[in-house]
Amino acid sequence: MYYITKNCVGCHNCFSECPMQAIEWSGMRYEIDQDKCVRCGLCARVCHTASIIDTEAKDNVCYHDRIEKTADVVVAGAGTGLVAAVRAAQQGKKVIVIEKSSRLGGNTDYAHAFFPVYTKWHEKAGMVDAREKAIEHYMNATDGVLGEDVIRTAVYATGEFFDWLCTFGTAEDVYHLVNLGDADAHGPIYGPGLLDFPNRIVDNLNCRDDAIGPGWGGTYVKYTMLKAIEDENLDVEILTEHAASHLLLDDEGAIAGVVAKDPGGETVIHAPVVVLATGGFGKSDEKLKEFEPWFMAGETPIHRFSVPTDTGDGIDMLRELGVEPVPERLFISMFGPKHHPFSNTLADIALEPDMLQINLNGKRWINEEGHLFGMTPHIAEQPKEISYSIQSVDNIKSVAERFINNPAMASKKHLYETWLEELEDEAKLDIPVKKADTLAELGRLCGMPEGALEAEVARYNEFCAKGVDEDFGKDAKNLVPVSDHGPYYAIYGQRFSEAALGGLMVDGQCRVLRNDNTPIPGLYGVGDATSAMHRRGELAVISELTWGVASSFTSGNNAVDYVNQHGPAGQIVTRGYAAGEGGR
Ligand SMILES: Cc1cc2nc3c(=O)[nH]c(=O)nc-3n(C[C@H](O)[C@H](O)[C@H](O)COP(=O)(O)OP(=O)(O)OC[C@H]3O[C@@H](n4cnc5c(N)ncnc54)[C@H](O)[C@@H]3O)c2cc1C
Ligand code: SF4
Ligand code: SF4
Repeated sequence: MYYITKNCVGCHNCFSECPMQAIEWSGMRYEIDQDKCVRCGLCARVCHTASIIDTEAKDNVCYHDRIEKTADVVVAGAGTGLVAAVRAAQQGKKVIVIEKSSRLGGNTDYAHAFFPVYTKWHEKAGMVDAREKAIEHYMNATDGVLGEDVIRTAVYATGEFFDWLCTFGTAEDVYHLVNLGDADAHGPIYGPGLLDFPNRIVDNLNCRDDAIGPGWGGTYVKYTMLKAIEDENLDVEILTEHAASHLLLDDEGAIAGVVAKDPGGETVIHAPVVVLATGGFGKSDEKLKEFEPWFMAGETPIHRFSVPTDTGDGIDMLRELGVEPVPERLFISMFGPKHHPFSNTLADIALEPDMLQINLNGKRWINEEGHLFGMTPHIAEQPKEISYSIQSVDNIKSVAERFINNPAMASKKHLYETWLEELEDEAKLDIPVKKADTLAELGRLCGMPEGALEAEVARYNEFCAKGVDEDFGKDAKNLVPVSDHGPYYAIYGQRFSEAALGGLMVDGQCRVLRNDNTPIPGLYGVGDATSAMHRRGELAVISELTWGVASSFTSGNNAVDYVNQHGPAGQIVTRGYAAGEGGR
């Protein structure tokens, strides 16, 4: 029997692949209808998080004595960490990648885009080099909390990384450089050029909508790195189901290797450099309780996108060496109200200001002009942290048409059109949408008190007639009355989190720092495992994947220099690690 575990992040791969339509959404994850399932196993093969298990499969664990290996560079974590691995191997180093999961890619496989400020493409297109202005902007925007050396690395290395990515020869097929026309900040983008990744790379995936990956820019980076290892015959050994668990130091406190646990025992890898690219701690209940107790205390469990293996193991390994994370530099990326993104197209519509955000008491709770980031801090105060985005069919259609006619959304036009068609056909509606002919019925479907929704809509319509929103001050131009005829729709939304980031403090060379800010020689930190780009409650303007690729590229380069200067691993002392532990 195939079974979907609670590790499912809801990426839709299995749902869209199942030939029997046996997979259904159950609120927080997918489930298999055993009556329809024919046990073909396809879903388990496409599941990126290894969340689908065959309960009848035999335990094939191969127990072994401790294995000893040697490398120049060990990379722990095969998300953006693959970039460091390829970079070091291209410069002649022997690299071992250890990956805790049975699958490669981590959260990187979900990410859509990274944003270099300036590349050779920008140069060729005659765009200004805005890198120094960007650094100044980022420094000001973050009150100097982030080190200038780290920001500088993020800005310059992302561009160098992209120029290097282009050397593999396929970037022109998937990226487009869009001229935004000026050099100011556009959300996470700084400068006139946006590197757009408009079309999903379809990988065992028929998902029709603009939902989360795999398939976007992060997947492209992963595939390009894996292909490079193969095509260039690079000296990179990849060990899946190997979790880095202890760092080994020599008698001078420099890195001497790492211990990796696998289902059958343990492997000790002797190496002068370890790159920790083990991701964030979004799937560690213990760390979330320790660092952000509110996260686990809410009435409605918060959906978490992180892959199940992102449990903050870098923090544990550093703690063994007496290095503590800095709580003010940990960050949970929260969103809401948003339904689980079965469809980002639908989420776009739900968050437009013409919609009414109504809580489970049947009350509006916010000025709907706030869009996602304005609403997120307040959704937690609503009953069960749930909001329905409500309007009548005619108004929802006009919102969708606005997207269809917006030239900036051209690459998604067909998705809004499909959604509009499906709106007409109840049977095809996406799961988080409720439809009713009357407001009374819609309120009942959403679990609101009898009569509450009708009363609230009547009050809102009076504000629309007056042109004054007496409750929340919404601008008159957005006061669009709800029609007196149905059908009416309610789009479900709740709080959810993308990831929990941070733990390792790093400098501009991506060296991992002790609490006294001195580097641990030979130890580098990458991406979400680090506390480089954020502080508590606030993500810096440089996006996570941007930092992921920049820091991994930088770590790969610096690892090579370090090995060249220091030579092979020294004598191992097993600090924080009991020799003889593990193995069989
Ligand atoms: C749904 C979603 C959408 C996103 N979209 C974007 C976006 O569009 N733009 C953007 O900038 N960012 C985005 N992000 C964030 C971005 O994906 C991450 O910041 C980035 O991919 C982090 O890369 P990483 O290599 O640090 O971590 P990961 O890619 O998560 O890789 C960590 C890897 O380490 C492995 N691992 C963990 N512990 C160990 C261990 N002990 N030993 C060995 N291996 C271990 C994990 O299994 C995993 O494979 C998104 C994230 C999510 C979840
Ligand atoms: S085993 Fe095959 S039929 Fe069953 S749920 Fe998975 S993909 Fe569908
Ligand atoms: S993570 Fe994706 S493929 Fe795996 S069970 Fe969940 S929805 Fe299916």
